[in-house]
Formats: sequence, structure tokens, C-alpha cells
Amino acid sequence: MLELPLWAWVLAAGVLGLLVGSFLNVVILRLPERMKAAWRLDALDTLGMESDNQPLPPGIVREPSHCPHCRHPLAAHDNIPLLGWLLLGGRCRYCKAPISIQYPLVELLGGLLSAAVVWKLGPTWPALAGLVFTWMLIALAGIDFRTQYLPDQLNYPLLWMGLLLALLPMFVTPAAAIVGAAIGYLSLWSVYWLFKLLTGKEGMGYGDFKLLAALGAWMGPAALLPVILLSSLIGALLGGAMIMLRKHERDIPMPFGPFIAAAGWVWFMAGDWLLLHYMQLTGMR
Ligand SMILES: [Zn+2]
Repeated sequence: MLELPLWAWVLAAGVLGLLVGSFLNVVILRLPERMKAAWRLDALDTLGMESDNQPLPPGIVREPSHCPHCRHPLAAHDNIPLLGWLLLGGRCRYCKAPISIQYPLVELLGGLLSAAVVWKLGPTWPALAGLVFTWMLIALAGIDFRTQYLPDQLNYPLLWMGLLLALLPMFVTPAAAIVGAAIGYLSLWSVYWLFKLLTGKEGMGYGDFKLLAALGAWMGPAALLPVILLSSLIGALLGGAMIMLRKHERDIPMPFGPFIAAAGWVWFMAGDWLLLHYMQLTGMR
């Protein structure tokens, strides 16, 4: 199998990424609903109130896809990643309601980023880990973008995985992973409190600290500053563009998680290259 040319692996990773992207869409939509329902039950329990037996929102794996508008179950061929949406012209086959552009976008992102990981790392174990890293970041970014939550259910496994892989070690040494995780968390935590004490506002949430801790576990402490700088840059560019295009109100907080996730992925893939070119450009090397 390893004799196959690299392009075949890249192609396979792209197709796998499209399929996983399709699953990530479900995670992005259903995980926050499940979380809210669980919090609600916890709250009722804490307050000593009777559960009112509201039905739970659909599970992530067990319930088949259906149109969110007319609830009609989807045929298998309408569920084909990317193609299904394109062939339907972005509308439900049954009720003609528009289907969110999120579906093909997340699938496309899954396919392209997965192909890029295998193109960069080849058919190797680090590539497999990199794929899981990529998929979890897509899910986190998507959920934060929609709901302003970065769920522990994704942040923590990403963090544990980074720490455990460092035992091999795969990307960084155990010491770098531990220090990276701790500094990742504490750096944003300090910025949060400083900002809160100075302005009385909350600029980000605890999920952001945990996500940066996870990235620190995967890439070590040296990656943290570049990731923060890069995420601020991406955030300023995209946020500025969105405000200018009037897609986003200035006073509504914008989720920071998608920018951290994007910057983390870029640094994971191209950190060495970016650092080298930065140093050459600035004459440090
Ligand atoms: Zn429909």
C-alpha cells in the first residue's frame, strides 16, 4: 500500500475528508443542541424541579439526516458530500427550502484540508494524527461560529490527544507539550482578566483558553505567540471585512475560536516555512 504514489494518498485523503466533513456538519448542528438540553436537565435537577420530559434533540450518530425545514428524511444520493448539494441546486428536494451553504462549505473544507495534511506529511502516522487534529478544529470552529461555544467535549479530547502523542513523541517532546498546554491556557486567561478589569467587558471565553492549551499541547510553547498573532491578524482582516460588508454588527461579540483554530492549523502545517521566510524577509537569517 505504501508503494502507491503520493497523489493517490492525497486523493484518498480528500475523499475521506469530504465524507468526514459531512459527519462534521451533523456534529456542528447537533452537539450544541444536545449540550443545551443536558444543561437544562442539570439546571432542573439542581433547582430540585421536576423534569418536564421535553424530548431530547436528535443524537449525533443514531438519527438519520433529514431536511431541517420539512423534516423529510434525505435519500442516500442527496447526502453525497458536495455533489448532493450541487445537484439539488442548494434546495430541499421535497419542500424546496434553501439548504444552508454551511453543508457544502464544511464538506469542501474537510476534503481540501485533509488532502493538504497528507500532501504535507505523506502516508504516515503523523498524517493520521494530523487528520484527526484537522477534523476536530473544523468542528470546533463551526460550533463556535454558530453558537459562540467551544465545547469541552471537543476541546478536552484534542488536549489529551496532544499530550499523549507527545509521549511517543510525535510532534513535540512531552515537556514541550505540557508547558505548551499550561502557557496556552494561562496566556489567554491573563489577557481575559486584564481586559475584563480594564474595560468591564469579556473579550473571549474559557473555551478559547482551552483551545489554545490544546494547540500548545500539539505544537509546544514556541507556537503559541505566532498562533495568537496569526489569529488576531485573520480576525482583524475577516472581522473588518464583515463589518464593512455589514454582515456583522460592530457591538455583537465575534467568536474568536474560529480564528484560533484557523491560525493553529496554518501553523501546524506551515509554521516552519512561515518562520523561515519571516526571518529571511527581516534579515535575521
Ligand atoms: Zn425540506
